[in-house]
Amino acid sequence: MALQPLTLAFHGAARTVTGSRHLMRFGERRWLFDCGLYQGHRDEADRINRAFAFAPGELDAVIISHAHLDHTGNLPTLSHEGFRGPIHLTSGTADLSRFMLQDSAFLMQKDVEHVNRVHGKKGHPRTPLYKMADVEDTLARFVTHDYHTPWQPFDGVNVQYHDAGHILGSAMATFEFTSEGRSLRVCMGGDLGRPGRPILRDPERPPGPDVLVLESTYGDRLHGNERDTNAALAEVMTRTIARGGRVIVPAFAVGRTQELVAVLHMLIDMGRVPDVPVFVDSPMARNATSVYKRHPECFDDDTRDLLAHGGGTPFGFHRLHYIESPEESRALNDFRDPCIIISASGMCEGGRVVHHLQHGLGDPKNTVLFVGFQGEGTLGRRLRDGAETVNVFGEPVRVRAEIASLDGFSAHADQKEMLDWVLALDPLPKRIFLVHGELPVQKVFAALLQEKTGVDVRIPERGEEFDLWTS
Ligand SMILES: [Zn+2]
Repeated sequence: MALQPLTLAFHGAARTVTGSRHLMRFGERRWLFDCGLYQGHRDEADRINRAFAFAPGELDAVIISHAHLDHTGNLPTLSHEGFRGPIHLTSGTADLSRFMLQDSAFLMQKDVEHVNRVHGKKGHPRTPLYKMADVEDTLARFVTHDYHTPWQPFDGVNVQYHDAGHILGSAMATFEFTSEGRSLRVCMGGDLGRPGRPILRDPERPPGPDVLVLESTYGDRLHGNERDTNAALAEVMTRTIARGGRVIVPAFAVGRTQELVAVLHMLIDMGRVPDVPVFVDSPMARNATSVYKRHPECFDDDTRDLLAHGGGTPFGFHRLHYIESPEESRALNDFRDPCIIISASGMCEGGRVVHHLQHGLGDPKNTVLFVGFQGEGTLGRRLRDGAETVNVFGEPVRVRAEIASLDGFSAHADQKEMLDWVLALDPLPKRIFLVHGELPVQKVFAALLQEKTGVDVRIPERGEEFDLWTS
């Protein structure tokens, strides 16, 4: 028997931050690691998400790192295009993905209806990328795995999940391949979380991989420590409330919102932020919070202690209101007193936060506070970069509100946290592939990694394939 071929090809999140899709092949078997949505301008995104550079029906499996849509959101397209294999994931990821994928199909349908209405009879009517039936098809293929319990998807392949500490259920997967007396360990990192954050455990370190695929979102930046971040949060809240304004926080519904609520709870209890109403206006955030509550096995020791000793839950406190209906959401526009509104989507490209911005941007008493990454071309990025006027729902809006931004709430490790995580791997990998980052950032991080570790670091292009045995 000859050595089984072992290759890895990067079909998404290559020199960009969304659309993770990595094609792995061992012998006759081929599978995808993650199948995320590419997010960007509507037409371009649609084209990229519909096109697979391989036949979905020929894939034997998909293995998923975590529930964010840029890692799972294109699974229903894969099902629609003929994929019939199992989808492996942790149970936390499965529970989050159920409603996130349903919500994704729902939003796509709404978006298509809106665009077709605007364009009327001109041009081709659009169709959504996928429908609810494709989502149901996808959900039926889920096979869940616990952390630290190895499983064998195929002969000669052993896989084990470790906690990535990024969002609930997030995992990195370490593959062990054996063929003809040789073996190779490959760690697919997914998104790497941060040490010392509330709720979730710190990112774990798998036994030293030969090859590491690592994200690089914040490869050129430091987030600042927890104390500084909390102080900056308290300051921005306090000065906005003092001038009688509202703080609008566009936040990812899954992960960021839960963490922010936990920290606000603490700061208000300590008297560091005035006691004003906090509204979480995102049905998805509400669902995500209920999934978090069902998975205490993912919590760090502090959160477990808090729950065990009746210290309340970090996910809800008496000042917190979850907004249900669109009517309630709109009614917030008439709420006169200072308040804090946390709403999705995180990059302001849709969701209820858009109407809060339309209503709130023109008032200099208010603050829009960014707590997450703002991708190129998004409304969030334009606001954060200081645009004086932006288009909201197709109408120009003057920006008079304060624009503030805090990187410390990121669910992604910063430059130093990623470097420290790599340096503690034992032994160090022989090769590192950087994915999930914008190219200029990746170049900075690659140079630093190479200098500090001596490891061969590559930044693959989309579609580039590597033989892992020889790497
Ligand atoms: Zn993520």
